[in-house]
Amino acid sequence: MLKKNNFKTPDLEKIKYWVFDLDNTLYSHHADLFTQVDHKMGLFIQEMFGISYADAKIKQKQFFRKHGTTLRGLMTEHAIEPFDYLEFVHNIDFSVLRVDEMLNDALDALPGKKFIYTNASNAYAEIVLSHIGLVGRFDDIFDIHDADFLPKPDIRSYHKMIEKFAINPETSIMVEDIAGNLNPAAELGMETVWVPTDTDLSQSGQIDKNIDYIASDLSGWLKNVADSID
Ligand SMILES: [Mg+2]
Repeated sequence: MLKKNNFKTPDLEKIKYWVFDLDNTLYSHHADLFTQVDHKMGLFIQEMFGISYADAKIKQKQFFRKHGTTLRGLMTEHAIEPFDYLEFVHNIDFSVLRVDEMLNDALDALPGKKFIYTNASNAYAEIVLSHIGLVGRFDDIFDIHDADFLPKPDIRSYHKMIEKFAINPETSIMVEDIAGNLNPAAELGMETVWVPTDTDLSQSGQIDKNIDYIASDLSGWLKNVADSID
């Protein structure tokens, strides 16, 4: 695995904007919310097509591979209404999440504007933020509706995100658990922080030169960054 000096911290004189992914970045991937969402996606497809759950899961994987997300596949090939789908798949048990005081304090101490950039919906992001105790910590959220349903790592989504937040990528830093989602950010001139997990998804698309910092423990890393301020 790629090794980077974990003691190296970004230049806070330069970085004015922090762009955080949400899922598996701002809370531990061990909470595994995606397994619940993934199951609900299967149920949605099962119900919609009147097929078995096993066949629904096969169809779901085909959509994901061809279109980047199951939702985009359903919208492109079957013109579904995204709101109903998102409401259905995000109706899960959030009680596995815990308030993260250390992350809360670290974000508080960090200068600059802070944003959420997620492939999920705003409504879902707000629920997650409430369960990890981070409501009010972010200046704005860019969600899948803002992206016109083009998920990361589609570079068109990043352009829209930069426009919505009105940020300069050259003075921005993006924090993400999926290495591949950092590639467009790096291409656009942003600095990048990878929050690696032991999952294949986290490592997919990894290009070493597009990763500036590695933060296995994001709370600790951010605290260290905040503490580096004179
Ligand atoms: Mg994520």
